[in-house]
Amino acid sequence: MATVSFWGGVGITGSSKVLIEDRGWRILLDVGLDRPQTELYHHPVRPRQGMELHDRLKVGDAPWIPRLFQGDVVLGTGLEGGSDGKTAVFISHSHVDHIGLVGWIDPRIPIYAAPETVKIREAITTLGRAAQADSSFELIFAEKVMLEGQEPQIRPMNEADPLEFGPFVVTRYRVDHDVPGASGYIVETSEGRVAYTGDIRLHGRHPEWVTTFAKQAAQSDVFVIEGTTLGRKSRDTEDPVTEEQVDKNFTNIVEHTRGLILISLRPRNIERIESFTRIAKTYGRKILWSKEFATFLGAYGLEVQRIDYSAEQLQTIRRSPEKYVIQMGPKDIPWLMDLPVGPDSLFIHSDGDPKLTSQAGQSLRVWLQRYHVGLRTLGTRGHGTPEAIHQIVEWVTPKVVYPVHTHSPELLQPDPPTMRVVPEYARRYPIR
Ligand SMILES: [Zn+2]
Ligand SMILES: [Zn+2]
Repeated sequence: MATVSFWGGVGITGSSKVLIEDRGWRILLDVGLDRPQTELYHHPVRPRQGMELHDRLKVGDAPWIPRLFQGDVVLGTGLEGGSDGKTAVFISHSHVDHIGLVGWIDPRIPIYAAPETVKIREAITTLGRAAQADSSFELIFAEKVMLEGQEPQIRPMNEADPLEFGPFVVTRYRVDHDVPGASGYIVETSEGRVAYTGDIRLHGRHPEWVTTFAKQAAQSDVFVIEGTTLGRKSRDTEDPVTEEQVDKNFTNIVEHTRGLILISLRPRNIERIESFTRIAKTYGRKILWSKEFATFLGAYGLEVQRIDYSAEQLQTIRRSPEKYVIQMGPKDIPWLMDLPVGPDSLFIHSDGDPKLTSQAGQSLRVWLQRYHVGLRTLGTRGHGTPEAIHQIVEWVTPKVVYPVHTHSPELLQPDPPTMRVVPEYARRYPIR
């Protein structure tokens, strides 16, 4: 019998892990770090270094999937490790809740992802090495310096190019999320078709990628969709700002701000970074990047100029603040003391760190008030609205839809004939 089961993202936002089994063969879609399911590892209490997977498995805080992880790592947990040649892993995108456990996978097991995902992973590794050599680097990724375990060998997979593995045929399609390489997968089993969205939205730069994926996934037996925003009532989910609108607002700000512009961004939102760079250039401004962003973006292949806060560079910026946009991370904020800022300047918070709701975000606000710098938020989320999620389900009209990656799976209410099933953790559901 062919089955599908869920080893993460069940009743929580993030960490989707979808296991498809067919006559002893396995496909695992995503292998992210779980949000803590136990009370045992609240920061700064954490699994022992180098034994993270072992320590999580021991307390039921990592997926109990046999023949997936390195044998020596799971030794003593009771879980069978090593490869039997019958498992393959496919990654939807490079966010840590989808890729974070990949370093523990037995190296004989093939791992596939979009070429962009491989590129981002490599650029993060370059940044991680730089951070290990220089402790003054700020950790700008959720996975901190390096992935846990070993650096994995991830194979780039072409789009719309079916790959056979045992009884399966797996095809990758690009979808729109806030990171390049975001992919959905369609898996043909001997008993029916499973489609999985990864993380997805319709208000990004490429809604047509989502419609193409939905067309390919149409009439699937099983459809697994992320439902991050189901149940959220914020203005943001009712009336999402599109990436296009974000660009327009940024253009407007750059056009009308006379002084220095400061900005916080998310490093993996490369398309927004490229777009802002173009817009700034149009208005005669250059973006200067913190050493962390410059190292990461440079390794990804972007041409970027770094800010080193040398006396000479500060002098140049003071002479013509209207020619610059400075990207700042939390540790850069005290440089406000030496930068030419005031009522003519603006800080744009574009989904980056520090989060405005955090304590560090409160520090940022006070710094900006002290130097009379205005604060504008300018961003949009990576996850589709509840309406978009329902729309995608309607396009696909599967037999059964399983909402994952959400606190409120019961709020997905598709029209007949589609049946919605709220998945239970680790329970195996027949595909047909
Ligand atoms: Zn996610
Ligand atoms: Zn994501």
